[in-house]
Amino acid sequence: MKHNEDLPAKISHPAHPGHDLKLLTTAGVTFVCDGCQEPGDGARYTCDCGSFSFDLHPPCAVADEATTLVHRLIRGRKFLFLPEPPAPVERTVCDACGEPARGFVYHCFEDDLDLHPCCARLPERILQDSRVFELRRKQWRS
Ligand SMILES: [Zn+2]
Ligand SMILES: [Zn+2]
Ligand SMILES: [Zn+2]
Repeated sequence: MKHNEDLPAKISHPAHPGHDLKLLTTAGVTFVCDGCQEPGDGARYTCDCGSFSFDLHPPCAVADEATTLVHRLIRGRKFLFLPEPPAPVERTVCDACGEPARGFVYHCFEDDLDLHPCCARLPERILQDSRVFELRRKQWRS
């Protein structure tokens, strides 16, 4: 079910200047993403120059501060990519999966919504069960 064909084989990233990050698609290897701080176990962008490898989920690696994310389920809301969650950081929670967001995050300033980059890219049917969908329904009623 992995679709990595459209991902570049290597990228450069401001979070790891000086080295290119190479795409690895080895399945079943767990890692912690140095962007969003969440675990992963599939494709990743990696550089193993240090004693610990530097890893990024593909959605975290291609996230870009210049790009606004418009989510299909949250119409009219714009999410901006932030390398760090907005203050207060300890209360920032991903509105899709409910887990804390401690690193890279898509943030909607208008409604104070946050999405992990990986959650922002999830297929629509998974997000439909989430709090994001409930939030939208509440807005419709009011
Ligand atoms: Zn990540
Ligand atoms: Zn490196
Ligand atoms: Zn999430």
